[in-house]
Amino acid sequence: MNDAASEHTDPHRQTASRGTPGGRRPDGDRSASWLPPWPPQWPEITDSVSHALADGSWGRYHGRLAEQLRIRIGELGGCPSCRLLCSGSAGIELALRSVGISAGDKVLLCGYDYPGNFRAVELLGGRPVLGDAASDSYSLDASAVQACPADVKAVIVSHLYGVGAAVASIREQCDRRGFALIEDACQVPGMIIDGRPAGSWGNAAVFSFGGSKPLTAGNGGAVLTADPVIESRWNRWLDRPSDALPMSELQAAALLPQLDRLDACNRLRAESVQQILAAVPWTRTASALPSADRTSTLYKWAWQSDRRDDLITQLSEAGLPVGTGYRSMHRSSDRRCDKLGPLQRCQALDQQLCVLDHSALLSTGPQRDRVVEILNAFAA
Ligand SMILES: *Cc1c(COP(=O)(O)O)cnc(C)c1O
Repeated sequence: MNDAASEHTDPHRQTASRGTPGGRRPDGDRSASWLPPWPPQWPEITDSVSHALADGSWGRYHGRLAEQLRIRIGELGGCPSCRLLCSGSAGIELALRSVGISAGDKVLLCGYDYPGNFRAVELLGGRPVLGDAASDSYSLDASAVQACPADVKAVIVSHLYGVGAAVASIREQCDRRGFALIEDACQVPGMIIDGRPAGSWGNAAVFSFGGSKPLTAGNGGAVLTADPVIESRWNRWLDRPSDALPMSELQAAALLPQLDRLDACNRLRAESVQQILAAVPWTRTASALPSADRTSTLYKWAWQSDRRDDLITQLSEAGLPVGTGYRSMHRSSDRRCDKLGPLQRCQALDQQLCVLDHSALLSTGPQRDRVVEILNAFAA
C-alpha cells in the first residue's frame, strides 16, 4: 500500500491507547469498569433480544422488529423515508450516490471529519474538497460553502461531539448554490437544531448504530430523506429482492428499547457536561458547546488542550475513558483532494482535541463526582 492510500485507514484514531501503547482498540472497548457499562446492560435489551430469539424473529428476512425500528428512526430524524442499513459508512456512500455523485464529481467536506467520509467520496471516484472547521464547533464552517468552487456537487456536513454544525446556514448556502447536502448525523440521534431534528436538514441524512454510538447494535445504520426520487434510488439499489445492506432482526431488537431511553440518556449526558463546566474552571474556555436552545446528543465531549498527549495519558491512568479526536485530513496530499486554504482550525483540532467517551457522561452521583474530581486534578 502506498502512503497516500494508507493515509486515512485509521478511522478509530480517537481510541485511547491506554495499556496498549501505540495500539488501537475498537472504539467500543474503552469503558472503564467503575463507570456505567457500554454497551448498556439494561434488562429491557436482554428481554427484547431474548424475545426475538424465542419467537423466531431472529431467523427472518424483513421482520416486524426492523420495520418498527425503521418507522421510529424516520420519525426521530424527521423524515418520511428511512432505510435501515448495516453501517453508517454504508449510509454515507449510499447517500452520496443517490444525490448523483460519481467519478470526477467534487464533494465539499470539513478537513476535520470522520475519515471514512473522505474515503467514501474517493470510492465513488469523486474528489474531496476540504474546508475549515468553524471556530464555535468541530464541524464545517458555513463560509466554506459560500467560498468553494461552483463545480462542487455536494456537501457533507457532520455534527460532531454533540455540538452540531451551523446546518441552517449551510442548508441555505447549498440551496443558493445548487449543491446537494448530505447530513452526517451518525453521532447525534435525537438532537434538535433550530427546532428541527438532526437528520431533517440534508437532502439525505445518516445515522450510525456502531458499537460506540449513543444508540448501538454493535453495527448498523440508517439513511433518511424527504425526497421520493432519492428514496426510489435506494429502493432500486437495496431491494434485490432481499435487502442488499441489511440490518438484522436481532440488531433491531437490541435497538428498539434504547429509543425509549434516548431522551433520558441525552438529558443525563448534558447534565454531566453542565456539572463538569461548573466545577472544572479550565474546561469552560477549552470546549465548544451546544447553544442553550439546542437539545444535544453528547456522543463524546470534546475540548482542546495544547499539552494534549500528556493530559490524555494522565486522565487515562486515572481511569477516564478519554482519547484523541480524529486525525485531520488537512495533511492529505494535493493529488487526492483540493483544500480551501491552510485549514488552520483543522490543524489545531488535529493536535489539541481530547474526547471523553459518553459512557463517562452517563455517570451519576458519586461516580460523576469522581469524573469531575479527576478532571479537576489536571489542568488543561
Ligand atoms: C461513526 C461515524 C460514522 C460511521 O458509522 P459506522 O456505523 O461506524 O460505519 C460516520 N460519521 C461519523 C461522524 C461517525 O461518528
